[in-house]
Formats: sequence, structure tokens, C-alpha cells
Amino acid sequence: MTSAPEKRDIRQLSLDDIKAFFEAEGEKAFRAKQVYEWLWKKSAKDFDQMTNISLKMREKLKEHFLFKLIKVDQMQRSTDGTIKNAVKLHDNLVVESVLIPTESRITACISSQVGCSLDCNFCATARLKRMRNLNPDEIYDQVVAIKEQGDLYFERPLTNIVYMGMGEPLLNYKNVLASIDKITSPEGLGMSPRRVTLSTVGIPKMIKQLADDEVRFNLAVSLHSAIDESRSRMMPINEKSNLAELAESLQYWHSKTNRKVTFEYVVWRGINDDEKHAKALAKYCGRVASKVNIIEYNPIDDGEFQQAAPESLDMYKRILEAKGIIVNVRRSRGKDIDAACGQLANKS
Ligand code: SAH
Repeated sequence: MTSAPEKRDIRQLSLDDIKAFFEAEGEKAFRAKQVYEWLWKKSAKDFDQMTNISLKMREKLKEHFLFKLIKVDQMQRSTDGTIKNAVKLHDNLVVESVLIPTESRITACISSQVGCSLDCNFCATARLKRMRNLNPDEIYDQVVAIKEQGDLYFERPLTNIVYMGMGEPLLNYKNVLASIDKITSPEGLGMSPRRVTLSTVGIPKMIKQLADDEVRFNLAVSLHSAIDESRSRMMPINEKSNLAELAESLQYWHSKTNRKVTFEYVVWRGINDDEKHAKALAKYCGRVASKVNIIEYNPIDDGEFQQAAPESLDMYKRILEAKGIIVNVRRSRGKDIDAACGQLANKS
């Protein structure tokens, strides 16, 4: 007795792969495009939804392929409306995604890796070791799940996507770009790349790669300090590639894309809440076309890091604005359910 061949995950196939399958089965190639649209544009979850494909052909597809879907295993809602999802992958590993509602936006904050390898010492995800990269479809499915929650709970369309969940997107470069491609292409969700933001610790080599690939989405860099010594203490990656190298890669990014980078910046009491740090940031922004988002600190258990006083944030704002730099001070959402930046750690 021969065992049946192992079924392949249909969503790992490109349009050309599906075309080749249909041709081998003696079917018309345009059928492949219909299937592809079901997979991505219409987010089908099984073959029986593909009603414009003949029953016979659907059975054939079932013989050869399967769907490896993610599953929203648990959903928590914050008092401010934020929704946090624990997303179970086909191998039972779990990542988290967050829906952030504001008056004008529904934002999906999604994960790109299971855990993280970067050890930023203020971030809860860093406590989990990196288990694996997510596939493009696992990233895309988080977006689709949040889009559906937006329709269901808010009756509003998804407007923005931020790669600010678990993991470092630039260490899963290929899959992250493939997922953005699906999100932005007409065969996928057809969203504008201007509504997608990739957030990174800042890996110069990969930032240059983004520039060379002429990507059209937004780039955010988690800076947190423009002084090497203090940045290295918080973010070990800075010992490998320092602020000068980062600046150089961002200048290259700007020269190629003509887009500003957004620096994400948390101000901590006793760590970077003094004028010296604020002036260093203003100087750094003078070298790199950029704007600054000051984000509120979300405490993770052990209390080593504490949110700076409001006066320190005002001081930052004053010093940056005096140099003509655009600054936003962002309040965090979903704190009561550990859904805010840096709190994603599969706690519940
Ligand atoms: N690895 C990527 C994306 C994930 S982190 C990156 O570092 O950019 C998303 C943002 O949350 C980053 O700016 C990160 O520095 C910030 N962050 C991490 N822990 C935080 C915390 N406890 N409070 C507030 N922001 C935090």
C-alpha cells in the first residue's frame, strides 16, 4: 500500500505555481487566477468557498492541497476598545496581534516572528526567545482577522497596519516584504503602502536593502537614545551597529525614497529624561530627515524602567520643536490587557 502524498499548503504557492498545476491538470490557466483571488483577495478559508471553480476541480485541489490557517485562540478587549488577540499558528505556537481603534483609524498591530532575538531590556517580548519566523500568510492572516474584527465590532474598515507586534521585521525580511506585497497588491487587500509602517530596531544593512528595493511603505526606527553609550545599554543591537552607521543608512534611505523616517522614542526617568539626551536627539534629527513619536512607556513587571515626568516630555518637545522637528506625543492603548507596545509576551 502506498501512502497518499503529503498535501501542500496551497498558500505557499505563487500564482505561477498554481497556473502550472492547472495546466498539468489540463485546465485553463485563468482558473488559477480565480483560485489565487479566493486565497488572497477574498480570504477564503476552504476550497468549498470557491464557488466559481467546478466541483470536480475543487475535489482535485483538496486531494493535493490544504489550508494552514491561523486561529484567533483568545481575544481580550480593553476598556478603551483595543482588542488583543492570541493567535495560534498551525504548529501551536502563539503570537499576538492588536486592533487599535481611534476616532479616525482602525490600526492592526501585527507580529512578524514568534518571540524575538534582540534583547532590548525594556521590552516584554525580549523575554521570550526567538522561536521562528512567521510565513507571509501567517502575517497576512493576522491582518485579515483584524479587518474582520473591525467590520464586526466597529463597523469600520481597517485603515492602517503597523509591524510593531512581536519580533524584528527586518530579521524576517523576505516574508515580511512578501506579506506587505499581499496586503498592498490588487490581488490581495489592495491597501495603499502609505498605510503600512514597518518598525525596526534599526539594522543598517537591511535599511539599505529596503531603499534598494524601493519599497513604498513607511519606516519607523526605535531609537530611544541618540547617545551610543546609553542606547547600547538598552538595546544591545547598538553595540553591533552604532548610531553613526544607522544615520548613514537612513540618509541612504532618504536619498532613494525621499521619505522621512519616524523615530520612536520612549523617555524614561533617570535614563534619558535630561537635556543632554534631548539635545542629542535634536542634533541626530538634524542629520537624518525624520520626525519623532514620543511614546509612553508601558511598564513590564520588574520596575527598572519608569515613565518620565510630564515636564521631561515637555522639555523634549520644546527642544525638538525649536529646531523645526515634528514631534508627536503618543498615549498608549490597551494597557489594562497588556496589549500596549512592548507588553506582548503571551501572558494569558
Ligand atoms: N522590533 C521592532 C518592532 C517591535 S517593538 C522594533 O523594535 O521597532 C514596537 C515598539 O514598541 C518599538 O518602538 C519598541 O521600542 C517599543 N517598546 C518596546 N517595549 C516597550 C514598552 N515597554 N513600552 C513602550 N514601548 C515599548
